[in-house]
Amino acid sequence: MTRLFNDPADFADEALAGFCDAHEIYVRQVPGGVVRRTRPGVPRVAVLAGGGSGHYPAFAGIVGAGFASGAVVGNIFTSPSAQQAYSVAKAADSGAGVIFTYGNYAGDVMNFAMASERLAAEGIGVENVIVTDDIASASADEIDKRRGIAGDFIVFKVMGAAAEAGENLAEVVRVGRKANDNTRTIGTAFQGCTFPGADDRLFSLEKGSMALGLGIHGEPGLHDTVMPTAAALGAELVQRVLVETPEGVGTRIAVLLNGLGSSKLEELFVLWRTVAPLLREAGYTLVAPEVGELVTSLDMAGVSLTVTWLDEELEPLWVAPAETPAFRRGYIAATTNAGAADNADIEVQDAPAESTEESRHFAQRCVAALGVARSTLHDAESMLGDLDAIAGDGDHGRGMVRGIDAAYSAAVYAVQRGGGAESTLAAAGDAWGDRAGGTSGVLWGAGLRALGEALGNSDQPSAEQMGAGVDAFSSRLLELGKAEPGDKTMMDAIVPFAKTLNDGIRGGSSLIDAWISAAAVASQAAEATSSLRPKRGRARPLAEKSLGTPDPGAISLGLIVTALGEHLVHYSTQEENL
Ligand code: ADP
Ligand code: MG
Repeated sequence: MTRLFNDPADFADEALAGFCDAHEIYVRQVPGGVVRRTRPGVPRVAVLAGGGSGHYPAFAGIVGAGFASGAVVGNIFTSPSAQQAYSVAKAADSGAGVIFTYGNYAGDVMNFAMASERLAAEGIGVENVIVTDDIASASADEIDKRRGIAGDFIVFKVMGAAAEAGENLAEVVRVGRKANDNTRTIGTAFQGCTFPGADDRLFSLEKGSMALGLGIHGEPGLHDTVMPTAAALGAELVQRVLVETPEGVGTRIAVLLNGLGSSKLEELFVLWRTVAPLLREAGYTLVAPEVGELVTSLDMAGVSLTVTWLDEELEPLWVAPAETPAFRRGYIAATTNAGAADNADIEVQDAPAESTEESRHFAQRCVAALGVARSTLHDAESMLGDLDAIAGDGDHGRGMVRGIDAAYSAAVYAVQRGGGAESTLAAAGDAWGDRAGGTSGVLWGAGLRALGEALGNSDQPSAEQMGAGVDAFSSRLLELGKAEPGDKTMMDAIVPFAKTLNDGIRGGSSLIDAWISAAAVASQAAEATSSLRPKRGRARPLAEKSLGTPDPGAISLGLIVTALGEHLVHYSTQEENL
């Protein structure tokens, strides 16, 4: 039974809305479905999975790095409309074209074809890869009439990895079709599913019987039999799939033992205990097999076995890392997708320059540090706005938040793409400058870029290099803004910060100790700007009004370096080398 719903007619929409909220760090809801939260910085082929709802995690659950770029989400067991497909494609396209990929069902084929025509007419590269893995749905002579079922998962994964690797539209299509040609699935149902609000099951099986080859929407299968033992079922599934072995394939296979919605994972493992040894006995090496619920049919009871024969091209794509709401494999980056700003907020970046492993590792720390600055600024947004409103225009809080959000997303993305510290901070700085608006944004952006340039893309920076980097940040601000300490700007905080930090490090303090002392000095200096009259910036004309209120830019800088100091202390308890 599907028990939890409000108005049954709203089930699919409500499920999608809840999913998008729960997984907002990965996905963004757009008309017609979902797209990844972060947008590729350079054009990448967008692999768009599609189909009806009721199959979770297919298809929205596999949207994320290394997998689908978006999902077109129809109603329960119903093809999405052409308009939905078009709209998701428009949101996901980053200039390298889109691929609609879906199981072979007439409604989907027509709707995606119509959307494709419309996109092509607008000059967007568009292709369709149709999955036909279900061996029970048509004979081998009519292989292209077969339906797509759990094999979707492997075919989509291969294409997602190829797109992530930067392959062009034709290449991603080629490997996708090859994966489909090499994929076979046989499914079986023990009991039908129930639509939300329906009194009866979509189809019903007698107790103790099983329908072999039944489709995921209840389409007829091969035949009904008495429910066998797990071992007998495992043997039958393996035998039926291996009979279908494509010609000329090798001995390495991807395997998916899939639950249809209400089989316990333990049951699947019991079955796997038969399936895996039989496949090995048949001479196969099982590469990164999956046992789980990956393509379901509401609460249908049943399982399916999918085999994809791999080759030297498909195997790396199948095992490549992915990070999505429902499926994670390997390591993309600790911070991948974490809290990234809206897709639309991310500027296109150039590919990052060469970097070393050490610098990439350090770049991840920079992302974490930007994350700390981000929460600090979000917390302080209204306070900073109020300070700026006294003698300025009241936008300092908003501007800093816009800047850090964009900087953080750009940094996450740069790290995902293998950026070292310099590339990551440069990308962050550029995004900050672009998005923040206001004087402080230009300065923070340019300062971060200068810091990155001082740290480079090769070394794990020493304390001295960090000191030099902060000096570079400060000098760049001086150079651009031409304000000096005493003018009532952020220079009143950054200059003493940089000096105290470097003095401390030269005097033999650790980076953390020197940083904490410098942050305390910066915060005091920021507070002390209360007694100054602004000589620069928007506050200058209202100099008298500003007396008694500290400079907002100096205060925000003090808050950020203080929070970073606390972060360093916290971090050092986990790792020692800072
Ligand atoms: P805007 O002044 O354009 O509205 P913000 O409100 O975001 O930009 O930032 C104001 C802060 O920018 C000021 O509080 C000050 O710290 C800093 N600022 C303004 N002009 C300069 C400058 N020439 N050099 C250094 N910092 C400056
Ligand atoms: Mg302002």
